[in-house]
Formats: sequence, structure tokens, C-alpha cells
Amino acid sequence: MATTGSLSTAEEELRLSEQRFRALVQHASELMLVWDRHGRITYASPATIRFAAGVEPDQYENDIEGTNVFLHPDDLPRVRDLVMDLAMRPGATERFLARYRRHDGEYRSLEVTVTNLLSDPAVRGLVANSRDITETLAYAEALQSSEAWFRSLVQHSSDMIVVIDREGHVRYVSPGIEALLSVPGNREAARLAQHIHPDDRAAVAAHVARASATPGPQPPIEMRAQHADGSWLWLEAVYTNQLSDPAVEGLVVNVRDITERKEAEARIAHQALHDGLTGLPNRALLFDRLTHALERAERSGTAVGVIFLDLDRFKVVNDAHGHGAGDALLTSVAVRLQIAARATDTIARFGGDEFVLVCEDVDGIDGLVEIAHRVCASLKVPFDVADRRVHCTASAGVALSRGSTDPEALLRDADAAMYEAKDVGRGSVAVFDHAVRVRVHTRVEIERALRDAIDRDELTLEYQPIVTLGTPSEQQAQDAKIVGVEALLRWQHPQRGTVAPAAFIDLAEETGLIVPIGAGVLQRGLEQLAGWHEIVCRSRLGVAINVSAVQLQQAELPSLVDRMLDRTGIAPERLTLEITESSLVEDTVACADRLAALKDIGVRIVLDDFGVQHSSLGYLNRMPLDGLKIDRSFVHRIGSQPREAAIVSAILLMADTLGLAVVAEGVETPLQHDVLTELGCRYAQGFLYAPPQPPEDLLPLLVEGRLPTPSHEARSTDPR
Ligand code: C2E
Ligand code: CA
Ligand code: CA
Repeated sequence: MATTGSLSTAEEELRLSEQRFRALVQHASELMLVWDRHGRITYASPATIRFAAGVEPDQYENDIEGTNVFLHPDDLPRVRDLVMDLAMRPGATERFLARYRRHDGEYRSLEVTVTNLLSDPAVRGLVANSRDITETLAYAEALQSSEAWFRSLVQHSSDMIVVIDREGHVRYVSPGIEALLSVPGNREAARLAQHIHPDDRAAVAAHVARASATPGPQPPIEMRAQHADGSWLWLEAVYTNQLSDPAVEGLVVNVRDITERKEAEARIAHQALHDGLTGLPNRALLFDRLTHALERAERSGTAVGVIFLDLDRFKVVNDAHGHGAGDALLTSVAVRLQIAARATDTIARFGGDEFVLVCEDVDGIDGLVEIAHRVCASLKVPFDVADRRVHCTASAGVALSRGSTDPEALLRDADAAMYEAKDVGRGSVAVFDHAVRVRVHTRVEIERALRDAIDRDELTLEYQPIVTLGTPSEQQAQDAKIVGVEALLRWQHPQRGTVAPAAFIDLAEETGLIVPIGAGVLQRGLEQLAGWHEIVCRSRLGVAINVSAVQLQQAELPSLVDRMLDRTGIAPERLTLEITESSLVEDTVACADRLAALKDIGVRIVLDDFGVQHSSLGYLNRMPLDGLKIDRSFVHRIGSQPREAAIVSAILLMADTLGLAVVAEGVETPLQHDVLTELGCRYAQGFLYAPPQPPEDLLPLLVEGRLPTPSHEARSTDPR
């Protein structure tokens, strides 16, 4: 019984085991199929039956390739050969991939493993295990194609892609390195960092350290790198931390060439900060450099020097030889200045014909003055511009920072000193010192006060008669008839009393205040003349108004004059405008246009202070003048120096030839009066006849039309 019992136990165990395997097979997702040596299907797992949609094995075609109705026609020959071959080899296994039709008609890719168990008594068949790997395949395919896509992108990109591992070693360099740096990537990978500009290495290392600690893409960093030909490129690199991405485990660096962009940026930056003509730093860059120099000086306890240069008579060159010559001169001056200055000095074009030097590490004010002299001296040799020899000197003002960190103040000081230099004479150098400071301060005060004076209407006019001298037979000064008056500006200062124009005209011209002031003089002078006209009915009385060079530069001047004449009803020929030679020198072309326009209106134009300045007789010919006023410096000397009388005589002769009326200014003595009459001068003005005076004081004289017997004092100065 025991035997039977043990037997039945063994059978029982076997049965259990068989059940266990069956259950496993039945529930397996794998497709299982067994067929015998005749090709009959002896077993199909439930998954297989599900795959075939309920088609039972006995309905399959009865041959060794029993599954062939499901096989994709393209795969059939290969699978059949494989299985036929396998059937010859007991115990052998084959694995293959083939497409089988599922119940819904879709072909699925199955990975099939077939084992020859024909000689195994327990099975006696070929056993196939299949797995549906359609999805896996599709995924792998997609993966493969996208990998290929990325790979080709990386391989053909002109950008360079670098992968750096956790230890900082370059693990991969894309072929882009060849296009970028012209070096073979495989050889250079390890030495890649050495291509980075030494000055940029620290910044790049810091960036890499930051990137290593921060996952994801980092902001771009720019660096210079050396090309195989030795030139330097600008590169932009974007580091992306993919250390935690198992597929990469590194920093991915996308590098591209931005040299062109950087060069364009540099060009634009250069244009914004440099003068287009001379290539020198412009005003903006000068301020920047000066600001930094002053900061450095403050730290090191040194001083910064500024030299303000202004070319003398540049306008003359510009007018005489044209703007092309002017430009050529400025360019040549820029070159000379660069040679004469020290390499460390900044030379900037401040504007027009003004240049500024910023000198650091100067040896006190003396050292600075020495540089200024050297720079000025470098301009003394004549320039060859536009086939001409041109002389051009410069006046220089120098100022030392002495602890101040205000660039504008320092420039202002040097500028003020430059004006001092101009006063001293062309080509000189002046230092900004206490005296200049006081003068500048005074000027600032006067300017403010002058603005107030305009607002408060403190500017008034006095009038000085212009008289006829008559013929030598009627030599008495008291016989002189009044033909006109010159309007002369006065400032009725509340504290200082009446201030003469010498104290403020220059400043008014420099600040441009002369323009509104001059317009006021013109209006008041004409109104006054109109008022006198009502009372004295002397229709031939004229008024002379002084017009400064600055006013003559205003394009609106002729229309202003026209309007004023219209408003006051004064005939144009009764208005005389007195201009100075400096107006003619300043801007010849525009000035000639302006004078022509004034001439068209019909006003008279005379040249004031003739003889003091350049006295270029050329102007007398070229400009539409009606007369000239001989400066009082000549008149003062004619009584004492015979040579002076000869000069005045020559002027009178020449004026006569040119049809110009002549007024002698500043006649103070009967002797001067006599000599002038003798020489044939027809008009005069001076204290001998009448001083400038308020209009109400002048009225009786105008009513009389001639002058009273000259004062005793005036007569007593007569040496005869
Ligand atoms: P100017 O045009 O040469 O004016 C003549 C100056 O000589 C006046 O000085 C006058 O007072 C002075 N004067 C007249 N007779 C004699 C004399 O016998 N001896 C001496 N030594 N001087 C005499 P003032 O009024 O001080 O004017 C000075 C300058 O100021 C003027 O010189 C003129 O250039 C300028 N000025 C005056 N008023 C105006 C104005 O309304 N506009 C402009 N732009 N300049 C003006
Ligand atoms: Ca005058
Ligand atoms: Ca004068």
C-alpha cells in the first residue's frame, strides 16, 4: 500500500506541477505554440488564441508552417526556411523577428523563439514562444531616427558643441570646431581651454563653476578664442547643466561665432564716441575718460591736467580756402597733436576748432604747461592743405584738477584760461589761476546781472551827434551842423550808476545776450528818431546803430531791420548800421549775404573803428559799404605826429576813390578839428562837439540844428 500510496503521491505531485505550469502558461502574455513533426498544432496558449481571435488550432493549416496564414507574405520565405532547418536539429533554438496578422487585420511584430523539442519525449514537438514587440520597435525606431537627426545636426552645425563631464574634462567636441577654430576636434579636445584668451579664462572658469552648480541652461557668456591662424574670435557660449540627465551626465556647451556682431557693435560704439573727421575721441568720450582719470587721481592722490586748445583764425582759413581745406587742416592738426602729446594723454576734438588734452601723471602745473607749449609749438610749422601753405597757431589754456573730481569744472577752468591766452596773443599758453578765477567769477556775476538788467529795463541809450566839418574857410567847430546821432548803450545800474558798454558788451556777445539787447537798441533808436522827427521836423537827421558781429550772424537780422523801419516809419536811408571789421573776418560768406540783404532794404552800412584791426583794404572793396569811421586812436595822434596825418590823409583819399563817406571819431581838440578839416574830412564826432547824452538833453541842440560855442575847457586844450 505504501508503494501504491507513494506512487499515488508522486502522481499527485506530478499532477499539481502540471497544473501549476499550465496555469502559468495559460495566463502568460507570451504567445505559445507547439506543433509536431508533421506540422500539426498540438497546443496553442490562450494568448495565442486571443491573438488569432478565437481561431482554434485545429483550424490552422495542417503543415509544419502551420502559422503561415498569419505570417506577412514578405516574411514567409525567410521564416519557413528557418523553421525547416531548425526541424533538422534536435535541441536547437532559433530567434527571429516576423510580422503576424492579428485578428483585427493589423500586422504585429513578434519576436519568436522556436526550440526543437521533437526528441523530448515529454513534448515531441517544436515549441514557439512569441512576444509582441511592435510598440517597443516603434519606440526604438523613433529613438534611432531622432538620435540620427540630432547627430547630423550636431555634426553639420557650424556651431560647436562641447560636452564637459563632472570632472571638468572635455568628453566630446563636435566637428564644428573645424569650421570655427580650424583645428581637428579629436586632437584638440583636451587642449580646448587653451584656445580661450588668457584675459577671459578666469571669467569662463567662474562661469563653469556656476553652471555646474545650477541645473538647466545658463545665461550666455562671451569670450575670445584663438583661431588656428592666430587671429582672435569672439565666441558666445551657452552652458546647459545636464549632469543629472543620465543620457548626458555633463555640461553641454553650445558655442557660436559672434565676431561679426562684436565688430559691428564695436564700430557703432566707436562712431558714437569718436569724431568722424579726425577719428579722435569726441566730447562724450572725453567726459568719460576725464571722469575716470579724476577718480584714479583721487585714489592715488595725484592730479589730472587739462589743456584746452583753440585754433587761432581757423575761420579765416575755412572762408578763404573752403570747407575742404578747413577739414584737411583739422585732420592734420589732430595728427600733429597726437605726435606732440604723450602716448598716455587723451586728445579729444571738443568741437569746431577746439581740442582738449587730458594728461594724467603730470609733473605739477609746470609739467602741464610744458606739454601745452610743446603741443602748440607742433603747430607752428605751416600746414600743406589743398595745395596751399597754411599757417595755423593755437591758444592754450591749462588747468590742474587739484583734488576736484568735477570734469565739467576742470574743463571750464581750462576754457577760461584759454580765453586769457587769446587775450595775451595768438599761440600763447595761459594757466588757470586765482586771478583767472576771480575774473571768471566776476564775469559770471555780470552775466547774471545783465540778464536781470534786460528784464528790469535798465539798459538805456545816449546819443552823440555826428557833425559836418564844413570847408577849411569856416574852420570853427561851432559851425558844425548836426547830420545824425550815434546811439550808444548805457546800463543804469541801481548801485553802480551809469555803466559804459566796455564793461559788458564783450560778455553780451559771448553769451549771445547781445542779440536781444541789439534788437532793443535798434527799436529804441528808431523810435527815438521818429519822436524827434515829430518835434524838430528835421527829416534828414539820421541815426547810427552799432551792430555786433554776433548779430550779423543771425539770419533774421535783415527782416528785423525791415520790420522796425516799417513800424516806426523811418526811411531806410536814415538808418546807418555800424559794423566792425571783426564781423567781416568771422564768417565772410554768410556776412556778405546778410549785408547784401540789408543793402537791398536801403539802409547805410559803415565800417566802424577803421584802422585798429586787420585793416584789410580788401574788405572795403568787396563789401557793400557806404562809409567808414576813422578810429579815434588815429585822430588823437594827428595833432602831434605828422606821420599820422599822412595816414589819415591816405585813408581819406582812398575812401574818396571808393565813394565812401568818412567820419572821424573821438575829436577832442580844436587842433584835431582843424587838421581834419584841412585834410578834407567831411564828418566828425567827439567830445569837442558834444558828448553822448540822454535824448532829452540833446533835444535843444537838435532844435537848433547846430552846436553852441564850444566849451571853454575844450578850447583851452587847443595848443595854439
Ligand atoms: P564806438 O562804436 O566806437 O562808439 C564810440 C565811443 O567813443 C563811445 O564810447 C563814445 O562815448 C566814445 N567817444 C565819443 N567821443 C569821444 C571823444 O571825443 N573821446 C573819446 N575818448 N571817446 C569818445 P562808449 O559809449 O563807451 O561805447 C564804447 C563802445 O561800445 C562803442 O564804440 C561800441 O563799439 C560799443 N557799443 C556802444 N553801444 C553799443 C550798442 O548799442 N551795440 C553794440 N553792439 N555796441 C555798442
Ligand atoms: Ca560806433
Ligand atoms: Ca568807433
